Formats: sequence, C-alpha cells, structure tokens
Amino acid sequence: MSDQQRSDDFAFLDIDRNPVPYRLPATRVDFFDVADLKGLRNGNYDNQVKTQAKRCTGCGMPWCHTDFGCPIYNLIPDWLAAIKVDNWHGALRLLEKTNDFPEFTGRICPAPCEGSCTHQELGSVTIKNAEFHIVGMGFRKGWIVAKPPKFRTGKRVAIIGSGPAGLAAANQLNQAGHQVDVYEQADEIGGLLFYGIPTVKLEKWMVHRRVNLMKEEGVNFITRTRVGSAEEFAPWHQAAMCEGLKTITLKSLQDKYDAVLIATGAALPRSITAYRQSKILPGHNLSGIHFAMEYLTKCTQDILAKRELRISAKGLNVVILGAGDTASDCAAYALRSDAESIHIFDTYPLRPEKRAENNPWPQQPDIFTIDYAVADCIEKYGYDPRVYEVSATGFIGKGGRVSEIQYGHILRNNGQISFSTAGRYKADLVLIATGFTGAETIPTLSYSPDQQVISVKGEGCQTSIDGVFATGDCTRGASLVVWAIHDGRTAAKSIDEHLMGSSSLPG
Ligand code: FAD
Repeated sequence: MSDQQRSDDFAFLDIDRNPVPYRLPATRVDFFDVADLKGLRNGNYDNQVKTQAKRCTGCGMPWCHTDFGCPIYNLIPDWLAAIKVDNWHGALRLLEKTNDFPEFTGRICPAPCEGSCTHQELGSVTIKNAEFHIVGMGFRKGWIVAKPPKFRTGKRVAIIGSGPAGLAAANQLNQAGHQVDVYEQADEIGGLLFYGIPTVKLEKWMVHRRVNLMKEEGVNFITRTRVGSAEEFAPWHQAAMCEGLKTITLKSLQDKYDAVLIATGAALPRSITAYRQSKILPGHNLSGIHFAMEYLTKCTQDILAKRELRISAKGLNVVILGAGDTASDCAAYALRSDAESIHIFDTYPLRPEKRAENNPWPQQPDIFTIDYAVADCIEKYGYDPRVYEVSATGFIGKGGRVSEIQYGHILRNNGQISFSTAGRYKADLVLIATGFTGAETIPTLSYSPDQQVISVKGEGCQTSIDGVFATGDCTRGASLVVWAIHDGRTAAKSIDEHLMGSSSLPG
C-alpha cells in the first residue's frame, strides 16, 4: 500500500476530530455571531475542513444520510468525498439537491448527523462545519446566484408564515413555476430564523441575503399582514411586532389563490406553572417576568436598530426557567447586556458524560454538553449557570416588580412529581423559556385533539379544507429548522401535485 493510500484510507484513525473553533468566550461578548465569520470569509479554515472531510470513510451504511441523521437526507458522504478532492463546486451542487438553506442548517442545526456518524468512539466527522463551508464558499465564489424559473404555470399559491418551512415551500413551488406570495405578520421575513434565534447564533444579514435571492427569483413577500384577527394574538406578538399591522382572512386568500399553505409555526408559550402542574404560579404577573420570545424578539429588534434594549438585563439578577436552546439564547443576550448574575433552572437531572443504555448510537446523544451561552457564562461569572432538577414554585415582588423566585427540588416517585422544601434565588428579571404548547388557532381548521397542532392527512399536508395545506411546526409542534425545511419541501410537492396532477419536485 502506498503512503498516500494509507493516509487516505486511515485518515479516520490518523487525524483527530478538530471542529472549526468559535471566537473565544472572552473576546465575543458582543452581539455578533460567536462563530468566526471573518476567518471563515477569509478562507482561514478551508484546509482544516478539507483535512477533516478525509476522516469520512464513506461507510456502507451511512447513518448520517438516513433520517436518523438528517431529516432532509443530505448526501453527506458524497459531498465530503467531493471536498476531499477540492471539488467544492461539485459539493455545493450536491448539497443544493436536498437542502434549500444550508447556510442556516450549517450554522445552527444541532447536527443529528454527527450523533449518528459511525465514528462515535473516535469522534464523529465534523459534518456541520463542512456544510457551512461549502455554502460559504458558494457565496464567496459567486456560484450561488438567483435562478428564476424558466417557465410559469399560471397557478398562484399563498403561503402564510415565512419561517424556514414557509420559505422552503416557497422556494420549491417558485422553482416549479408557480407564482408564490408569502404573507408574514412580522416586519421581517424568516420566522424564528429572524426573531427567535439570536444575532449571536445567526446574523440577520444572512436571512436577508437568502430572502433577496428568492425575491430576484420571483417570490413576493408581504410583511405586517396577519391572516386571522389581531385580537387572537399572543401578548408578546402585540407588544413586539404589530405596528402598522393589516389583517386579512383565510377565505380571502382561498378566493384569490389556487392553493394556500399555512406555515405559522408553534409559538404559543406554555403557561407559567411549576413543573408538570396546571396551577399558574403565584406572582406570575409581577413586572420583570417575560416570555422568552418577547425578550428575544425585542432584543433583536433593538440590537438591529442600534438603540437601548427595552428589556435590559443590565445590573439585574436573571433567572431563566427552562433549559433548552431558547433558555441558552436568552442567557446569551442577558450576559451581553451586563446582567449581574444568570441562573438557568433545568427540570431534568445532570446529563451523563456518556450515552445511557436507552440512548444508543445512532440516536442523537443526550449527554452533558457545554453550549456557547453556558461557556460564555462560565467565562464571565466563573460558574456553570445551570441548576438541575429544580422548578419555580412562585415569585416574590417588591413595589410590583419581581425580586425573588421561590423554587423546590423536583422529587420523582413512580411518575408522581412533588417538590422538596423551597429555597429562594434573587431574581429581578425572569425569562420563561419552558417551551411551546402548539400553534395559534385559525378558525375553520381542524386541530389534533391531543396537541394544539393543525391536523393534516398523512405526509400530504392537506388540511380539513380542500386546497388548504399546512406544514412545519404548526403541524408537528416546536421542532428544528432542518425539520421545517423537510416539511416545507414535502408540502410543496403535495401542492404541486394538487395543482398539476403530478410533480417532479424532490419533496
Ligand atoms: P416559524 O419559524 O415559527 O415561522 C412561522 C412564521 O409564521 C412566523 O414568522 C410568524 O410570525 C408567522 N405567522 C404566524 N401566524 C401568522 C398569521 N396568522 N399570519 C401571518 N403570519 C403568521 N432550531 C434549530 O434547528 N436550531 C436552533 O439553534 C434553534 N434555535 C431556536 C431558538 C429559539 C429561541 C426558538 C424559539 C426555536 C429555535 N429552533 C432552533 C427551532 C426552529 O427555529 C423552529 O423549529 C423553526 O423555525 C420552525 O419553522 P416554521 O417555519 O414551522 O415556523
């Protein structure tokens, strides 16, 4: 065996996993992306990504490419093989076959593909870095340009909601030649990509860049337009987004368009209760207590407008209830606006260092990790902000504003939940990031009885009203961007079939 062949075949043994680093916590206390976008733009990591791609063995059963690893079936081993031989253009064309927006998933997907990679013990291949690099290279080299469809079918489709599900469907349907109009209640396009995921995880010019391409390709975007009535709004919507809002009815869209797709997300927040209890917590209406989405939306608006934050954490003791992505994102903004202290209340126990027996490969590992926001807190405050197996049990106020939070340790006994004797934390800003219960109700549609999501028939995305389809989080509950892209593509194929009798869209 030649030395070259040995080094290619055994790269997975000879080369250690080495992801592209974020900016160091001490130097990234600003509202820009924690990723080193400048270094990426300058090509500083191109060789590292190529070397890491060599660690992919193109295994016989690439779990990364199944829906265990990637809901949109990205052709991961194929584009890694292309990178290995410096064929970045070929890698991009392969990536575009399955993913409308790799610049978003390459940046913020939790990467179940890496959790399902065969090289778990040696360290999985850095697939997410590779994806972000391929698309970054595509933009840098001018390979990604607007490609308007060559013909128009004369059919018109309205899409309600401009998150990744609505955008993926719009992209596919436009490419199939249909005229697509996207209606969005917010002042910006992108759904949670714009108002939800913070600037430190996804800079908003990236969303603008993709939306501008889609505009050039012929998609119409109509902002500040809500389908339904303004009165049904969740309170944070009213507060954050609705200046100059118009409302229109679903019926008016049905009359005007050949098909309507609902992609309105699942942003209804869970009520403020103790863990798995139904009674609203005492003191919940004190000022200084906000739902995460109100906080994140207003902060992003203020950061982009370069004005003072309307909900400022400066000098305050912040307690965040809930410990998922949303909680981390709240911590990231609070830390950057000079919070005095930050604590994140997690109802789950500390995760194990290694996979538990009931969490085998190729499932996404549920293990102890330190994400970007936790790393930032450790750097700034010198402690991990997460407090495990605790639940808020009430809020105490001074002069109408929250000043302390009461909590109890969660005791689990045969499925029964109780709380140990309460303790207290200082808390002058409380952010509720305990998840979402489902989609807002649009009258006349059927909803699933067990979950607050729109009922659709099978994979077809057809709702209870003929010609009205639904997709994304509003049909599956709060999920991930990659699933929203999957759902948007599936819905586009169903709508294309509905309009034309058959479809060659990939789905
Ligand atoms: P959404 O993105 O919610 O978009 C729905 C859109 O519809 C919104 O713009 C809304 O304003 C609009 N709309 C709603 N009702 C109406 C109406 N009646 N009329 C007009 N417009 C309407 N996923 C990841 O993969 N990685 C992450 O890092 C990540 N971080 C997250 C951080 C936060 C804070 C949150 C909340 C979620 C995060 N997610 C993440 C999840 C991900 O963002 C969602 O799963 C995804 O955006 C869902 O896409 P969607 O298109 O179905 O809905």
